[in-house]
Amino acid sequence: MDETEKKFQELLARVSEYNPNADTDGIRKAWEFAKLAHGEGKRPSGELWLSHVIKVAVLLASWKLDTAAIMAAILHDTVFAGAAKSEDLEKEFNPGVLMLIRGVTQIDNLTLGAGKKEEFVENLRKLILVIARDIRVILLRLADRLENLKTLWELPAAQALDKAQETLEIYAPLAERLGIGTVKGELEDLAFPYAHPEDYKWIVKESKPYFGRAEKSIQTMRRKLLKLLAQENLRAQIQGRKKHLYSLWKKLNRPEIGRDFSKIYDIIALRILVPDVPGCYTALGVVHQAYKPVPHLGISDFIAQPKPNGYQSIHTRVFGPGGEVVEVQIRTYEMHAHAEYGVAAHWGYAEAKSQGLSNERLEKGVLVERDKLSWMRELVKWQKEMTDSEEFLKAIKFDALSHRIFVFSPKGDVFDLPAGATPIDFAFAVHTDLGRQLGGVKVDGKIVPLDFCLTSGQVVEILKVKAPRAPSPDWLNFVTTRTARQEVKKYLRKAGQKA
Ligand code: MN
Repeated sequence: MDETEKKFQELLARVSEYNPNADTDGIRKAWEFAKLAHGEGKRPSGELWLSHVIKVAVLLASWKLDTAAIMAAILHDTVFAGAAKSEDLEKEFNPGVLMLIRGVTQIDNLTLGAGKKEEFVENLRKLILVIARDIRVILLRLADRLENLKTLWELPAAQALDKAQETLEIYAPLAERLGIGTVKGELEDLAFPYAHPEDYKWIVKESKPYFGRAEKSIQTMRRKLLKLLAQENLRAQIQGRKKHLYSLWKKLNRPEIGRDFSKIYDIIALRILVPDVPGCYTALGVVHQAYKPVPHLGISDFIAQPKPNGYQSIHTRVFGPGGEVVEVQIRTYEMHAHAEYGVAAHWGYAEAKSQGLSNERLEKGVLVERDKLSWMRELVKWQKEMTDSEEFLKAIKFDALSHRIFVFSPKGDVFDLPAGATPIDFAFAVHTDLGRQLGGVKVDGKIVPLDFCLTSGQVVEILKVKAPRAPSPDWLNFVTTRTARQEVKKYLRKAGQKA
């Protein structure tokens, strides 16, 4: 058996482990298809395409994604880089898998790093629309980017720089927004040397002694705390977490730090993982008894008050064994999984929690609707911040984005409407029949009038009446979309003919 075949078997074993209901025949079929399409084809780096797609699939498996996502990962480059035609794909695979591949390809074609600013805004908007439909699309995109960054040297320098910048400007913040901490840090550190080569060299050299010293005190503290926590009957794990180089560099460049390493307290942090929330506070007490908290730096309790992206943890700064400041982070195992894998963790947890569910639903990966809505609203907010923060975008006030809004159906489907759109526009955008059955409207759970002006991120629920209702001529005074206008006019014309 050759190397890629072996890796594929490992992938299958891994998927079956977290998802006993996985459609292994489907995954095998995707693999056979990819083998035909890629053959012995190699990337400029000399790596086999087949080996690349397996690596992307393995990453998705480490996030415990479902069969469709694993299949899409195996197939994602068969048309772009292999001998397959889109028609072949469409014949062989189901719409769920095809939708994921299409989504990833769509995003691939959006250049976000360079180009005209108006284009950037417009493309960012498209990106949000594509990924808001299905979170797996962006997880697949991030996994692919992560793998591609590892061989960025295979590209001409200018192109590598573009990819690195795009990663730092778009994909890493996006990963952070979605709460996928591990991916964010890795993406940044892989892109760092290409985007800022001189600074990268500088920080690798300068940070070495600091990492070395911090490592020593962390080991001393770890041994002592493990003993004390055991005395409290806490089943705890303690890890040392090294700060990623890119985020260290960013922090060093803050004016109040002024490139002074001694002002960085979390170059290595101590991370304590415990089974439950009361355990977190017990652990905090243990830490503070062993090592005095630093008065003016204080405690941040993100368990009582989670960060906007859902991050939960208690952070405290204490004086370590040598008198130096050390950051200690305390959280439950579940909070840890969410901090590391964010939205991806929903799949795994939902699965674990849903043992009573049918095989079919399990296989789909059960995403709680409310969670789905909350991450999509995060996307809308993120996209606003992205464009707001850019100085140049202020210049073009009436850009593509400010002309459009995103709103959600109660099921979490996203709709893209012109600014000023009303619930009537929304109803007709969903379906013409829905427009005709319009009884009332709830926005974010509250009843609103029909001429209500919708804004991005809102959830719009149309309350249906049984019998179709005649649109009122008044509606023409405030609807904004062509579809709604035409439908209303059409109805009024017909009604006029009858009368
Ligand atoms: Mn790829």
